[in-house]
Amino acid sequence: MDVADLHCDVIYKMMEHPGLSLLNPDDRLLDVTVERLRQGGVTLQVFALFLPQALPRTPENMLRAVELYFSGVLAHPDLMPVLRSQEVDAAGKMGKIGALLSIEGVDGLQGHFWMLRLLHRMGVRLLGPTWNHANWACDGAGEPRGGGLTKAGRQLVQECERLGILIDVSHLSDNGFWDVAETANRPFFASHSNVRALRTHSRNLTDDQVRALIAVGGIIGVTFVPWFLTDPEPASIQHILRHVDHICALGGERHIAFGSDFDGAERYAQGVEHPGQYPRLTEALLKRYPENMVRGFMSGNAKRFFVKNLQN
Ligand SMILES: [Zn+2]
Repeated sequence: MDVADLHCDVIYKMMEHPGLSLLNPDDRLLDVTVERLRQGGVTLQVFALFLPQALPRTPENMLRAVELYFSGVLAHPDLMPVLRSQEVDAAGKMGKIGALLSIEGVDGLQGHFWMLRLLHRMGVRLLGPTWNHANWACDGAGEPRGGGLTKAGRQLVQECERLGILIDVSHLSDNGFWDVAETANRPFFASHSNVRALRTHSRNLTDDQVRALIAVGGIIGVTFVPWFLTDPEPASIQHILRHVDHICALGGERHIAFGSDFDGAERYAQGVEHPGQYPRLTEALLKRYPENMVRGFMSGNAKRFFVKNLQN
């Protein structure tokens, strides 16, 4: 079955390991390889621009990360950039893997909106204002102060909407989430977050946040990071199903997607440890849900969201 995945950190891994790329893969270092994407039926994959902690958060390093996306991801003949609404379904139909580019943390923009406009021209279509820490735009889920969007952060949301960049609320503080909800005029989404009612963690969504995402026509990428699924670990596919069940119970069956976080965590739910294992999740879902719903979870809901909300 066709799969869309809302978050992976291949670019980050390439920054950490010079020479590594989808053209020169090493499956001991990379969770995501083209072979595994094919094996798993992935036809749409989001690639995040996230700078390793050790690197200065500068425009120069952001551009380095983008260059790696071009030379190490898009240069692969099986991949195709998705920039417009009509390209969302076209990739799969052409037998390609569609690639969407996302910013995970705007630290490296250093408040420069020209940099945002340039990155948009380079293909960025999705943006999470911050990672877990606080930056010039917003406080993250791990910032004890718990602030929301700054004044510049509100301008960032507005400029993204003007450009046609969709806002990702995964990693935001609760106040950041609600500030986005208040500021945004366009649907926003959570690329890799689970449900707080099942696993208390600041990275997970409260029921009110899930309802707000449903109300704006957003999507939620249930993630395979074990410590966002359950405590204590290990996590299994059954835990993923519980989070799916909960979002369905809140009325979100047409808003569920997956955001694996492959290459962004050291371990995953047992059974879905790389994209090649997506069919195991599909199989488990098919035991519980009708096929049309499972198609929605695996790719239909995410693709509908991008077709509707990316510009033409
Ligand atoms: Zn993340």
